[in-house]
Amino acid sequence: MAEIKHAEVGHKSLLQSDALYQYILETSVYPREPEAMKELREITAKHPWNLMTTSADEGQFLSMLLKLINAKNTMEIGVYTGYSLLATALALPDDGKILAMDINRENYELGLPVIEKAGVAHKIEFKEGPALPVLDLMIEDEKNHGTYDFIFVDADKDNYINYHKRLIDLVRVGGVIGYDNTLWNGSVAAAPDAPMRKYVRYYRDFVMELNKALAADPRIEICMLPVGDGITLCRRVK
Ligand code: SAM
Ligand code: CA
Repeated sequence: MAEIKHAEVGHKSLLQSDALYQYILETSVYPREPEAMKELREITAKHPWNLMTTSADEGQFLSMLLKLINAKNTMEIGVYTGYSLLATALALPDDGKILAMDINRENYELGLPVIEKAGVAHKIEFKEGPALPVLDLMIEDEKNHGTYDFIFVDADKDNYINYHKRLIDLVRVGGVIGYDNTLWNGSVAAAPDAPMRKYVRYYRDFVMELNKALAADPRIEICMLPVGDGITLCRRVK
């Protein structure tokens, strides 16, 4: 397949071609995708906002990362139908925990039967509502400081900087925060006058500000990966 030139920034894989991405999925992701995740992916595909779901390759990446760092106590901000949540729940040990937050419970409940059937729902505490006030309450109590091994942030991009200010206290030294969509459909490197969907243009500046702030933050080591729509891993070092 010839290289696909993207006329519009904002709705294609970040890879050189869709064929290459398809190759990754078919060769190493789909053959190893747990049955429950496949089922949830197929349910989500029928939902009108399915563009928001975590891709299968990113789900596989999260699963591997959680196992590599032996994560046990985790948090997720932005659940939608729960694909990344299920990937996390399956990767954690039986006594692992996920505090999962979303303003929308309905979408979480769409995926919940699959999570229950997979036998991992007991690891999840779901809180409906905006995440920021919950974080504010949590940091008031010193006992919560430095207690999270892994935090996945995949919600309102205009609040990522505000999340970071709080999460840096909640993650343990040596723990990891993953900020999702940090390449924002490739728009972060596009000319300001390039054609872009409205929502892509709106959040672009916030994502670019976040990327600069993370790169300048001495409390973390960072690694930005072109997986999914870009994920920046931040390892707390102090
Ligand atoms: N991680 C999910 C997955 O694997 O399918 C995708 C999350 S989706 C990209 C973003 C989610 O963030 C939406 O479900 C939305 O309701 C939620 N959200 C938006 N603003 C929020 C807020 N202030 N607090 C918590 N969740 C929020
Ligand atoms: Ca995402």
